[in-house]
Amino acid sequence: MAEFDYDLFTIGAGSGGVRASRMAAAFGARVAVAEDKRLGGTCVNVGCIPKKLLVYASHYGTDFADAEAYGWNLGPRSFDWARLIANKDREIARLNGVYRGILEKNGVEILDGTARVLDPNTVEIGGRRVTARYLLVATGGLPYVPERPGSELAITSNEIFALPARPERILIVGGGYIAVEFAGILHGMGSHVTQIYRGELFLRGFDRDVRSVLAEEMRKQDVDLRFGVDLAKIEKRAAGVAATLDDGSVVEVDQVLAATGRRPNTQGLGLESAGVKRNAAGAVLVDAYSCSSVPSIYAVGDVTDRINLTPVAIHEGAAVATTLFGGRPVKPDHTDVPSAVFSHPNVGSVGLTEDEAREKYGDVVLFRTRFRPLRHTLTGSGETTMMKLIVDKASDRVVGLHMVGPDAGEIVQGFAVAVKCKATKAQFDATIGIHPTAAEELVTMRDPLPPVAPAGSE
Ligand code: NDP
Repeated sequence: MAEFDYDLFTIGAGSGGVRASRMAAAFGARVAVAEDKRLGGTCVNVGCIPKKLLVYASHYGTDFADAEAYGWNLGPRSFDWARLIANKDREIARLNGVYRGILEKNGVEILDGTARVLDPNTVEIGGRRVTARYLLVATGGLPYVPERPGSELAITSNEIFALPARPERILIVGGGYIAVEFAGILHGMGSHVTQIYRGELFLRGFDRDVRSVLAEEMRKQDVDLRFGVDLAKIEKRAAGVAATLDDGSVVEVDQVLAATGRRPNTQGLGLESAGVKRNAAGAVLVDAYSCSSVPSIYAVGDVTDRINLTPVAIHEGAAVATTLFGGRPVKPDHTDVPSAVFSHPNVGSVGLTEDEAREKYGDVVLFRTRFRPLRHTLTGSGETTMMKLIVDKASDRVVGLHMVGPDAGEIVQGFAVAVKCKATKAQFDATIGIHPTAAEELVTMRDPLPPVAPAGSE
């Protein structure tokens, strides 16, 4: 008789949990995964995928306007939120089925329900105790809403995907990925968007030029962006709500979206009974192999609050499966992770920001360009694209690459290979551009900015 019911018991069937489970099963392990919501986790159900579908929807707003400059005559147009949400829901249900199929095909047992850890090798689910040689905590994160009078009137990114109607007027609180993405989505669909951020400039952690250029572009589109101000309270009104800000101003809207960050989903999991150490925010503390303070318990993805991105969770999950069952210890690599913000226009980044590069390398050479995309020469749109390269002077390596503009995510994904391979500026220069594209600018920037130019100066 086997010592344990399973070799691996995964809690949470999101990006990281599913990848680890199916790979472990493919290595021959007996695996079960518990999920108390829909398969696929945040990314599939209330994150990346439905968000990107809404981003596509929102872009038609400007695309229709641009089309006229290109000779198209368009009739009356209107936007049907309910139809979009129904179509989106159908696609998400299909993906839930795809995830089920992937797990079943690999022989992973799926247990619907909430699992609770009882000890380093035992979980309880649906009144049943099961044991496993290893437990993997992959429970993700949950939206965090700061306590304010009336904060229960705000919705989060969990609810926005299921709203019965598009809010005509929305206040978005926060200055991170989710806040700027939904500002672009709803503005593009015709809503009046006010976005507030408590700091001096949103997207903290991104390169300063990226942050200021995106703010400028969003303001050009008439998004009401307000920095240095926070939410004080929300009160119900006959129609919608009134949000009072801490500068005393009042914004009347149909909805308030709190996009004020996410917290690791560890409450009620029973991790303390097994002795798993967590940080103050609840994140499971792990070593370089994603092992917690308890040798039989691993954790991957947002619940560990390292880099909270789907492909990173997948990478961590694969590393755990290979370490435990693939006969080879693998540490996930968290360096030079590219990311995109699907704001309008998009942001794409890989490597260090200018400040980080100065801190790490001291002497850096900067290349920056800002131009009107060819597409807008006919449309009259004032939108501009910004690209920036940060080069370590001593080695000539491109250590940071940043872009604000259409398709930034697509473009930076390709250039991320070069940055990961430690390409030099000379190698960028030796690469022939594809003409006419926006991306060719990244291999044709020849004139560095003056050495001591402060960030943000043109
Ligand atoms: P972020 O951590 O990116 O942003 C949270 C924002 O809320 C920050 O601007 C933060 O301000 C602000 N905030 C936090 N606490 C408070 C508070 N008490 N009062 C007022 N403002 C507050 O979180 P998101 O929820 O936007 O996204 C969560 C994570 O999900 C991201 O960090 C990212 O890793 C991932 N994600 C990735 C996407 C992508 O790849 N395109 C898309 C969406 C999410 P401050 O900066 O001052 O702390």
